[in-house]
Amino acid sequence: MNGRPRRGGLEFDAVVVGSGPNGLAAAVTLARAGLRVRVYERADQPGGGAATRELTLPGFRHDVCSAVHPMAFESRFFREFGLRERVGFVTPEVSFAHPLHERHAGIAYRDLTRTAEALGPDARAYTRLLRPLVDRSTNVAEFTGSPLVRMPADLPTAIAFGLRSLEQGSPAWNARFREDTAPAMLTGVAAHTILTQPSVSAAGAGLALAAYAHARGWPIPIGGSQAIIDAMVEDLRDHGGEVVVDHEVTALAQLPPATVTLLDVTPKALARIAGDALPDRYRRTLQRFRYGDGVAKVDFALSDPVPWTHPELRRAGTVHVGGTRAEVADAENQVNRGRMPERPYVLVSQPSLFDPSRAPEGKHTLWTYTHVPAGSAVDRREAVIRQIERFAPGFRDTILATSSRTAREVERHNPNYPGGDIAAGAPDLWQLFSRPVLSPDPWRTPIPGVYLAGASTAPGPGVTGLPGWFAAMSALRHDFGTRAMPDLSPRRPPARSGETVT
Ligand SMILES: Cc1cc2nc3c(=O)[nH]c(=O)nc-3n(C[C@H](O)[C@H](O)[C@H](O)COP(=O)(O)OP(=O)(O)OC[C@H]3O[C@@H](n4cnc5c(N)ncnc54)[C@H](O)[C@@H]3O)c2cc1C
Repeated sequence: MNGRPRRGGLEFDAVVVGSGPNGLAAAVTLARAGLRVRVYERADQPGGGAATRELTLPGFRHDVCSAVHPMAFESRFFREFGLRERVGFVTPEVSFAHPLHERHAGIAYRDLTRTAEALGPDARAYTRLLRPLVDRSTNVAEFTGSPLVRMPADLPTAIAFGLRSLEQGSPAWNARFREDTAPAMLTGVAAHTILTQPSVSAAGAGLALAAYAHARGWPIPIGGSQAIIDAMVEDLRDHGGEVVVDHEVTALAQLPPATVTLLDVTPKALARIAGDALPDRYRRTLQRFRYGDGVAKVDFALSDPVPWTHPELRRAGTVHVGGTRAEVADAENQVNRGRMPERPYVLVSQPSLFDPSRAPEGKHTLWTYTHVPAGSAVDRREAVIRQIERFAPGFRDTILATSSRTAREVERHNPNYPGGDIAAGAPDLWQLFSRPVLSPDPWRTPIPGVYLAGASTAPGPGVTGLPGWFAAMSALRHDFGTRAMPDLSPRRPPARSGETVT
């Protein structure tokens, strides 16, 4: 972009509230467009859902929220930003594993053929389900990473994806399979959504994640998710932007005058912060936005790696614990009905197996969470330990310390997760199309110059930076009269002209 599209007289061109990946994606984009940008963050460090801290013992560095980053790898924003040139990642050969019995597990390699070979009579069915999506995983990421009201560029892949989501989201989801392993693996990824099983939207998210697992893999950042944030903050500062921490914004009137304000908050919070400035109709739409069920998080400092009985699990970045498809679905559906399952589905990440910087020499960190009804105040530490012990007897003896957060505490830590809903709004089918409102430009609010930029907006949750990037592009278009996409690359070549985000 040539020139600086700022408006005169104001101290800042753009103010951003919230420094999660989306707030920072918005801030970086606007700073790269030549604008003067300030970010306000309520916590004492930037990062939101991508922060890393010592939660248990000194020297044990835990990802407070997100840990595994296939969505960042596939995100168009982060490709433009050159994330992989700025941050070191390690991509385990086993993207995820799903134990079914003590000595039997589904193993998702970064290779579809190798994965399928271990699935016996279901090898062909699993391959046929996923091959078109794995081969075109970039296109899958492209249309799942765009507002769904737009026509996908690769229509045949979008149709293949849609048909498979319908099948895996229906009661006929087992029809193509003969054994338990492949269905369990698919439900293990679909259950990331915290939605009813089976359902089309959960199946779609699961198929996309499975495709990434077999294509580029599920990477983890060296040093923890905070490394992603550090790279974004550094770029922002390099381009004149600033982040003010320990500063909660409770009303728009508290903010310094600026041409645009972008809020990395939920619709619920926008309604509070904007107060009477919001027209009643829009406020009512925001109030209808639904939040999903929550998570309870448990982090462990360990003396040794988890003693999984299946040796391949010791090479997996992520492990989905919960048993068969029927067991996982039952646990998830109990949560959706407001009950606490006795044998819950647990997501486990083992970062220190691949990144020694996460723990003192020879020791390990373990990241886990499990789903719970919205707003639950129940500590799930014991339930998580019991589930891991099913497939790793002796796990309890490796525990040096734990840090446990209930769903209520997850919200207290970050109001972007109401009731512990880490998706910042249920990612069901309707709310994928209308996030948070049904519009080709869902980031723009009726208040002139005010935009929503967080994961409650399209295209939804995950560390992608996409909602923030789209919100920033909308602000540039409407308030600064430019359709040119700022160059975000680390090399900072001369500005490109004419490229637009569609
Ligand atoms: C336990 C957990 C595990 C997860 N695992 C993964 C994973 O492995 N991979 C993945 O891709 N995603 C994962 N996610 C989801 C991912 O973290 C989020 O989707 C992502 O961080 C959303 O980014 P955001 O910028 O929209 O919001 P957030 O990251 O939540 O950031 C919002 C920021 O705004 C600040 N803020 C809010 N209100 C105000 C205010 N009024 N004033 C000032 N500051 C304010 C908050 O403090 C916060 O820093 C996980 C989330 C959680 C909680």
